[in-house]
Amino acid sequence: MYDFVVVGAGPAGSRFARRAAEEGYDVLAFEQGEVGEPLACSGHVSTDIWGFTGENARDELLQNEIVGARFHVGGPGSDAHRFYKREVVSNVIDREGLDRHLAGLARDAGADVREHHTVTAVDQRHDRVAVTVRGPDGTETFEAKMVAGCDGPRSRVRTELDLAEPGELLHGVLGFDSDADATDYVDVHLSAPRFFAWRIPRGDAGVEYGLAAPPGDDVGGRFDDLVDGYGVDLHRRCSGAIPIGPPESVTSHRGFLLGDAAAQTKPFTGGGILYGMTSADHAVREIDPDSPASLAAYERAWRDDLSQEIRLGHWLRRAYSLPEPVQRAGLSALSGEIGVHMDRPSSLFSREHLRKVFS
Ligand SMILES: Cc1cc2nc3c(=O)[nH]c(=O)nc-3n(C[C@H](O)[C@H](O)[C@H](O)COP(=O)(O)OP(=O)(O)OC[C@H]3O[C@@H](n4cnc5c(N)ncnc54)[C@H](O)[C@@H]3O)c2cc1C
Repeated sequence: MYDFVVVGAGPAGSRFARRAAEEGYDVLAFEQGEVGEPLACSGHVSTDIWGFTGENARDELLQNEIVGARFHVGGPGSDAHRFYKREVVSNVIDREGLDRHLAGLARDAGADVREHHTVTAVDQRHDRVAVTVRGPDGTETFEAKMVAGCDGPRSRVRTELDLAEPGELLHGVLGFDSDADATDYVDVHLSAPRFFAWRIPRGDAGVEYGLAAPPGDDVGGRFDDLVDGYGVDLHRRCSGAIPIGPPESVTSHRGFLLGDAAAQTKPFTGGGILYGMTSADHAVREIDPDSPASLAAYERAWRDDLSQEIRLGHWLRRAYSLPEPVQRAGLSALSGEIGVHMDRPSSLFSREHLRKVFS
């Protein structure tokens, strides 16, 4: 019997598998496809990412460095309000490469990571879980003391464990233009309902255009308008779901959720790579596979760390729905040099940020 079966080898699953294996646990991880595919993510992250990677990762994965954002109330060509730091704020990275890198670290640590294996059922019993998996050699059942559901926004494990869904699932669309662009600002357009559209320069990897909004808000049509507004031809498109608003519980008797499966995301950007991996570290620290009671400690630890940030993130997101004149006035008043950390909305109240705003 394994200590942990991990379902999904995205950032959250691979991080958990690696750290649990390093702690000496027997870890078996399943990924339904090939690690890193299909892509449905911008890979725009704070520089904290490098605290979760191995040596030389930055050289392999970094595509561009960003110092700030130009916010627009309207679409392409509308007035821009610049928010910036004097140093690098964030990095644009090769997201498929990141997943492969993290899964490699998990394997190096001793986790057994199996691709092309889809988990189809989880049967939770008093003293174990039985996980049914469809792979190239047919269907098999594996037993473990605990199951970690790291299987993304539409988590199968979440359903199997009877855990509640996230509050909301946004629909995100991405498209790529191959012209190189190593400039250091992203553009954010508050023109999508209750969320936003964006343009991210990715260095030699080209330029990414994206838009996310609640489903049913003509996300595809709005994305086409964005791309037409920029006057570019896209050579590749993809889309995915962004879970917002974690449910009240992400743990069961012998199972727990991590990452997008648990909606551990920033409500004002949809970003979840760092929150998912941070929560994976809390899970490894707190969960003892022999003690179902330890799941409560994981639930407390990740919420103590992130729930205030998520709450503030919900407040920030409300600004996307303010009337346009109010948005314009707010952006004009607040634009300029900032001292915020992109993963920590609480840094809006930091001495560093307030000094910059009032100076
Ligand atoms: C359009 C868009 C843009 C985004 N941009 C950013 C960004 O710039 N920065 C950022 O931080 N976040 C961004 N995100 C969010 C980010 O992609 C997620 O938060 C992150 O991928 C969550 O990691 P995860 O490991 O929890 O889940 P995932 O990365 O979704 O990984 C889950 C894995 O589980 C596998 N899986 C699913 N079901 C099964 C099954 N039954 N059996 C076996 N395997 C299974 C999947 O194949 C997948 O590999 C974006 C999301 C979208 C949709």
